[in-house]
Amino acid sequence: MMAQYMEVKNQYKDCILFYRLGDFYEMFFDDALTASRELEITLTGRDCGQEERAPMCGVPYHACDIYINKLIEKGYKVAICEQMEDPKLAKGLVKREVIRIVTPGTNMSQAILDETRNNYLMCIFGCNEEYGLAVCDITTGEFRSCHVSSTAKLYDEINKYSPTEIIGNGAFLSCDLNFDYMKEKMKITISEAPSHYFNDDTCEDFIKRQFKVGSIDGLGIEDDQEDILISVGALLQYLHETQKNSLDHINRMDVYSIEDYMIIDSSSRRNLELTETLRDKQKRGSLLWVMDKTKTAMGARMLRNMIEQPLIHKDDIEARLDAIAELNNSVIDRDEIREYLNTIYDLERLMTRISLRTANPRDLLAFKTSIHLLPAIIQVLGNFYSDGLTEIREGIDDLHDLYELLDRAIVDEPPILIREGGIFKDGYLEDIDTLKNATTDGKNWIAELEAREREKTGIKNLKIKFNKVFGYYFDVTNSYKSLVPDYFIRKQTLANSERYTTEELDRLAGVILGSSDKLVALEYNTYVELRDTLAAELTRVQRTAHNIAMLDALCSLSYVAIKNGYVRPDINNDGVINIKDGRHPVVEKMLNNDMFITNDTYLNNHESRISIITGPNMAGKSTYMRQTALIVLMAQVGSFVPAASADIGICDRIFTRVGASDDLASGQSTFMVEMSEVANILRNATKNSLLILDEIGRGTSTYDGLAIAWAVVEYISNSELLGAKTLFATHYHELTELEGKLSAVNNYCIAVKEDGDDIVFLRKIVKGGADRSYGIQVAKLAGVPDVVIARANEICNQLIDKDITNKLKEIKITNDFKPKNDDTQMSMFGSLAESQVIEDIKCVDLSNMTPMKALLYLNELQERL
Ligand code: ADP
Repeated sequence: MMAQYMEVKNQYKDCILFYRLGDFYEMFFDDALTASRELEITLTGRDCGQEERAPMCGVPYHACDIYINKLIEKGYKVAICEQMEDPKLAKGLVKREVIRIVTPGTNMSQAILDETRNNYLMCIFGCNEEYGLAVCDITTGEFRSCHVSSTAKLYDEINKYSPTEIIGNGAFLSCDLNFDYMKEKMKITISEAPSHYFNDDTCEDFIKRQFKVGSIDGLGIEDDQEDILISVGALLQYLHETQKNSLDHINRMDVYSIEDYMIIDSSSRRNLELTETLRDKQKRGSLLWVMDKTKTAMGARMLRNMIEQPLIHKDDIEARLDAIAELNNSVIDRDEIREYLNTIYDLERLMTRISLRTANPRDLLAFKTSIHLLPAIIQVLGNFYSDGLTEIREGIDDLHDLYELLDRAIVDEPPILIREGGIFKDGYLEDIDTLKNATTDGKNWIAELEAREREKTGIKNLKIKFNKVFGYYFDVTNSYKSLVPDYFIRKQTLANSERYTTEELDRLAGVILGSSDKLVALEYNTYVELRDTLAAELTRVQRTAHNIAMLDALCSLSYVAIKNGYVRPDINNDGVINIKDGRHPVVEKMLNNDMFITNDTYLNNHESRISIITGPNMAGKSTYMRQTALIVLMAQVGSFVPAASADIGICDRIFTRVGASDDLASGQSTFMVEMSEVANILRNATKNSLLILDEIGRGTSTYDGLAIAWAVVEYISNSELLGAKTLFATHYHELTELEGKLSAVNNYCIAVKEDGDDIVFLRKIVKGGADRSYGIQVAKLAGVPDVVIARANEICNQLIDKDITNKLKEIKITNDFKPKNDDTQMSMFGSLAESQVIEDIKCVDLSNMTPMKALLYLNELQERL
């Protein structure tokens, strides 16, 4: 047996092998050490033909899910090795095979998966710092793929999906990403797939087979997108090898381009707190928390995906807005739909289980309940005429035939197990009814026999009992033993009683037990057939589930719009952002609704490209800027927005550089992180992007910081170079000098009222710049002792450098951002090496060198460059 174990284990080295031995899954050697530690179970040992006993531990098979889930959550993979024949019938060693490998990205356990989010498995194929990316949620069948043109973009895409598992090729695993961070902080299991996965012919075969197409052209993969083809094919192979099942429910693939959606880089995604908060990674306090009032798990996943990838095409955005507007105009109908949605379980995942033949009778009952009110939903949708809602109505199948079938078939309280009968209603199948009657009749026969024999023998407490080992028997307590007649055959003697049978009881028992065995077997087969019938309706159900998800998400957006007093944004392609009385959707919820002070935003592609926002710390600068970004993002999700009115020019990207970064910074100084984010923004932003820059240059000395901030504003405002719309908050009130010098720049400040030595925050943004920083007043508000405040005031008065403002006035604006000479283009290290070489040449004593030595020296210099 140990030899068989080793043979299997050798094929699944990267997994913990659950090796079935009777009623247990056993683990040996290193697997046992790991599992006993992680699962806190006892480690024992077993003779294995070697000198030392093999470390061993085990878990009972019926409770294995809990243990498997624990290991998966910790990032392990588990291979389940089953007995493939009945040990009682097997000759020699029982045949065993690995039937499934459970990994974080392929886990289907309802116990650990959050139903409101997808569980993504990703495959990345890298080649020359470009990537093919395929991503799949095996629990719903969703499958998408795209081409990614740089490592930075790849990281953004990974963040968009936050998969639980990534497999990739060697080139991906040696790319310049922080894998430790991804593994430890983002909790992604990352592994290298075997190189044969990445063979293009094999990949093509797998794709054709899975999506049932003759050629891959029809799937939307272009000829020059081989990296997509390989990532998709490799992902399918991994699914094939881990699931050992055909996975029919994965039957569509969406090949998309990253540019089809608003691009939000990873740090902006985190900073804007779209789906979780920056500090404690909670949903509460995020944009999703405010916007998600969905009723179904599918709707919740859909809405999350919509927020994760806002749209950039006006028509698509308008279609969603039209649908929400229509729902808002008919709140009664909308609420009726929402009532019906309440009864719908996770149809997508239920259908997947049906398709994989793992659905139990309770799943079928949930399925039935979920489709019960589809006709009612379709009917209410008939009252709507927008394209979006009409399309949804047309996409929902009432599935009435399936409802009727299930309603006839499954009892109202079915069991979880399918091998113990009790699944079907009377009247569904005649043979089942006949066998059921035999079982009930049998019970009556037994009762009659019991009464008859009690009378005949005079044993007052004579009972017929049943247990699994002995079947039916007469139970006679010791006090009545003397009355037992001859035809009673003794079966067993206990301390207080004797057990007997009779010929008649044996005969009856035979009939009863035979029919209940037959009944269980027939119910099992009938159940499997019924499930197959449902499985054949896969595409109809998937399409319906998808449309229900969209309907739920739109109803949620409509509900939130009315409840929170949002307005429909006007979407334009002219680059104008004009928000009146805008609010921060989350902060206004955290505060009391009416305490939030509203503010306007105006930006365009011409004279109002950049707003420099000054004001003391705590004034509300960052809230104001985030609010603008969130309103733009919400509008592009297709949602109404928190404002009195809003014109939103579509943005292709939103970048934020806000506050100190999270622990991504480990190993890097805060300033370095800040600057690399600035570098990323300046390199990747376009004219149509929205930039939110908070306190650029704060992390270094005043002069450096001011200079960097100044140059960045100059660069962004230049429409030949960048020209992106920008909100730029700074406590360097000196930067207000830029207004007037640069035509696109305007000064704003968040008003504060001076009250003697104190200040009062008014939270209102007004035109003009602040002329002081009020740092000391804020420190006082925060409770810094008065003596320290007084001393700080003293020092400040001495430090105030009137000169700097005058000097800044003298700085001339430049349009000339061309490299000044070749040196400036060299990397820091390159230029250092070169200048060292120049120094060395200057010092060399040529008069004391032979021509040969000179030549060698020249060679050495050349090698240093
Ligand atoms: P800054 O970026 O200027 O330091 P913040 O934007 O962080 O200031 O705002 C500080 C606090 O002020 C926030 O936590 C919020 O509670 C409150 N606040 C900001 N803007 C508003 C507003 N418009 N209405 C009401 N309270 C606000």
